[in-house]
Amino acid sequence: MYTLKVEAAFEAAHRVVGYPGKCDRLHGHNWVVEAIVEGKTLDELGMLVDFKEIKRALQAAVDTYDHRFLNELPPFSEGINPTAENLARILYETLEKHPIFLRDTRLAGVRVFESPKTSVLYTKD
Ligand SMILES: [Zn+2]
Repeated sequence: MYTLKVEAAFEAAHRVVGYPGKCDRLHGHNWVVEAIVEGKTLDELGMLVDFKEIKRALQAAVDTYDHRFLNELPPFSEGINPTAENLARILYETLEKHPIFLRDTRLAGVRVFESPKTSVLYTKD
């Protein structure tokens, strides 16, 4: 089994509505997102999947949120708090629809860092 990891970043503001503390206030993060990809079968070049393909898909997914106020964007504007947990799941659900993952390669997880020391890993299981 091979495990690949590709990273992208974006900057965005959010509010954790109802949080009993300062996270309820408007503030921002330099979010870092990792896509973790697994598979067993290499292509004729010896690659599981081209890093560039994953990077492009991940960048497109995070660009939706770059320099935005997350609470104003769907699905967060529909009552889902834009926590790192929800963001990781939504990015996972967005990315897994990419044609790369219709082949033998599987999206194993998405990790969202709210800061260098705090992150959430979402996996489907
Ligand atoms: Zn925050």
